[in-house]
This record gives sequence, structure tokens and C-alpha cells, in this order.
Amino acid sequence: MNELTCIIIGGGHVGLHSLKAIKDESRGMAEGRKIRFVLIDKQPGHLRKMLLFRPAVGEEEIMIPWEHYSFLEDVQFIQGEVASVDSERKQVRYTDMNGHSSSIRYDLMVVSVGSIVRQPESRHGGIALTDQNAAVAIRESWRANLRQAAVEFNPEEQKRLMSVAIAGGGISGIETSAELVLEMRKEASSLNLNPSDIKVHLLSGQNRLFLDGPEKVGYKLGQLLTEYGVNVHYNRKVIQVESHAVKLNNGDSLPVGLCIWTIGLIPNPALRSMGLPLTPEGQIEVDESYRVKGATGVYSIGDCARIIDPENGKADQMRAGEGVLQADRLGKIVVADLEGRPAPIHKSASSILDFYCIGLGENRGFVWARKWGLNMFITGKLGWKIRSLAWDKGSMLR
Ligand SMILES: Cc1cc2nc3c(=O)[nH]c(=O)nc-3n(C[C@H](O)[C@H](O)[C@H](O)COP(=O)(O)OP(=O)(O)OC[C@H]3O[C@@H](n4cnc5c(N)ncnc54)[C@H](O)[C@@H]3O)c2cc1C
Repeated sequence: MNELTCIIIGGGHVGLHSLKAIKDESRGMAEGRKIRFVLIDKQPGHLRKMLLFRPAVGEEEIMIPWEHYSFLEDVQFIQGEVASVDSERKQVRYTDMNGHSSSIRYDLMVVSVGSIVRQPESRHGGIALTDQNAAVAIRESWRANLRQAAVEFNPEEQKRLMSVAIAGGGISGIETSAELVLEMRKEASSLNLNPSDIKVHLLSGQNRLFLDGPEKVGYKLGQLLTEYGVNVHYNRKVIQVESHAVKLNNGDSLPVGLCIWTIGLIPNPALRSMGLPLTPEGQIEVDESYRVKGATGVYSIGDCARIIDPENGKADQMRAGEGVLQADRLGKIVVADLEGRPAPIHKSASSILDFYCIGLGENRGFVWARKWGLNMFITGKLGWKIRSLAWDKGSMLR
């Protein structure tokens, strides 16, 4: 009998976990037919998106070649950018790396094309931490500034060159500022500059950090960052990046050599032309078992899908942690659907356990969990270990 083709579009954190979950759950067979798995991604490897700030502070490689993953050995990989899905003819149209347009037929499909990092309008200036190229541009910029500072005689100008503003106080802004201050200080020492003149300003538009958790957790995080040398500013937004300073919403100017934007994620704009049903915010509409409305055999999870817990009406956030739980459930859903059994339905991660971990630089982590109204924190080395484990698990490296 013919094989059944299961296509995964997007090998990010959630696509990788989905592929593995469906493979494991189905054992590669459905209705006595072998399942042929195909992964389509526009990139040559899995991007460890949660670590996007690493190449902005140092030299770390965050792209893992697909060959690294043994469970992908018998999976066909197509490097290409999916343009559209024809759910009536069950075909996916994509453009390969040579710019040729092709199509492939599917029986089952998971759309996990994720999100992109939000960018300010270009007239605002600065560099948004959007992808690896932007990360490298950030690294080159602050390093060039420090080299210039090392030969600068004017003390005010020297301090400006040793200062960076980070606009956006979410987790990615927090992690970027904490790691950047460490790296900039190391580099300053090696250039015979005074490391304590390094200033990393984290600008949060809110009156505290970490709005997803209780107030005291936000304050604790702010305290730790200050202890570690980050200047945290609350209720401050960058309005404009000028040549020598950033202009803030209260009229102040902060003299800096570089402004980095970390202002969150938006659903992948490529979804707008893919031909799948979208919410007004641009995420794919799915039912409580991740089935895309009106497209038989198509499922969608991760940052690109709007996933609501039917019990409490809560929508999942664009977080790898939540996407990975969806992926594990998706394996069971797909197999149940193939066998005509009732499928599991979505349950929000926070109804099981609130859990966040944040890296604050090597050996300095912060973990917060809440269950039955009880808050639990872990900081320091153990927090860092848990944080590193979560990064690795997210990319299936452990
Ligand atoms: C700096 C930063 C820090 C973060 N920190 C955390 C954190 O601490 N905890 C947490 O839970 N989450 C965090 N997140 C969010 C997390 O990264 C996302 O929730 C997660 O990456 C979502 O995974 P995904 O697979 O749905 O999408 P993505 O990771 O965006 O992957 C999408 C994949 O689809 C591919 N793709 C896109 N369009 C196409 C197309 N048209 N054709 C073919 N392939 C395509 C991409 O190449 C990519 O491989 C962070 C994000 C950033 C940017």
C-alpha cells in the first residue's frame, strides 16, 4: 500500500518536538501504511531562537545542523520557503534555495512556522535583535565602540562609547542585558578601560519587570539585575535613537553608543499569504486539538497558532515552553485522529504549573514556579543549571 506523507513546516523548537512526538507515537505507521516524514525549513539547521542574544554578546554558534539529530536520519529534509498551502488539493507550494518553485503533496501536515521578532520603524534607529545577522551587527558595534573608547581622550565621550541602551524589558531584554554587561566588562578590561565605566541600561516601559509573575518576583528580578551591574529604568520607552543618545518618553536623553531593541514577537507575517484561516492578530485558527479549521489533516501549534484552553478560555503565549507541551500532545492527537478515537484536547501549561526560568549571565539563573498558589524561587548556580537545561531541552540537545 502507498505511504502516507506527513509534512512538518518549520523545524524550530516546536516543529522539531512535533516531528519526534508524531514519529514516536505512531512508530512510523498508520492504518498499516508506512509514514514518510518530510521536514521543510528555509534554514540549513535548527535555530536556537531563545539564545539569539548569544551571538550579540559573544561568538556562540546557535544554528544546529539537521544532521545532528539522529531522529531525523530517515526524514526527508527540504530546504525551502513555504509560500502557500492548498488544503483542497493537499499540496504545499514552496520556493527552494535556487529560487525554483515546487510543490509537494501531503496527507498530514503540521504548520509550525513560528514568529518573528518585532522591529521598530526604521526611522527610530538602533538595531533590533531580530536574527543572527542583527546579532553579529550588534556585537561588532559595541566592540568597535569600546576600541574607540580606548583611544578617546574626552572622558564624557569615552563613557558614552562604553554605554548601551536595551529597549524592551521582557525576558529577552533581561537576558541580553545581563550577559552583555558581563562581556562588555571583560572586553573593557582587555582594552585597559575601567570595567566599572560600562553602562548597560535596560529600559522597561512598565513600572516593574516580569508582568507574567507576581509583583515581588518582578522586583526581585530588578534587584538582581541591578546587583549584577545593569541599570534598570522603569516606565521609560525609547522614542528616538539619535547619533549620540537615545531620547526617552519623559524628555530625557541618555548618552549611549548603541541602542538594541528587544520588543517581543509577532506571528510570522508569511502566514498572511499562506491560505490558512487566521485570527485578526495573524495567528492560525485551530480547534481545541490543534486542527486547522477547514483544512483536513492539517494541524498547527507553536508561536504561529492561536491556542485556547477550552476550560478557562486562556490563550497560550508565544513561548517555547508552551509550544513543546503542545507538541507532545499533538503526537497523541494525530494518532488518535488516524485511528478514529477521541483525541486529547488542549490544556494551558499554566493550569498545570506556572514555570519560568531566566538566565542572568553565567552561573546566575532565576527560576520561578507557582503551584497551588505557592511561589518558589531558585537563583544562583542551580537556577543557571535549570536555565541551561531548559535551553538544551528546547532544542532537543538533551
Ligand atoms: C531572544 C528570545 C528569547 C526567548 N526566550 C524564551 C524563553 O526564555 N522561554 C520561552 O519559553 N520562550 C522564549 N522565547 C520564545 C521562543 O523562542 C518561541 O516561543 C519559540 O521559538 C517558538 O517556536 P516555534 O517552533 O513555534 O517557532 P520558531 O522558533 O519561530 O521556528 C519557526 C521555524 O519555521 C521556519 N520557517 C518560518 N517561515 C517559514 C516558511 N515560510 N517556510 C519554511 N520554514 C519557515 C523557521 O526557519 C524556523 O525554523 C524567546 C524568543 C526570543 C527571540
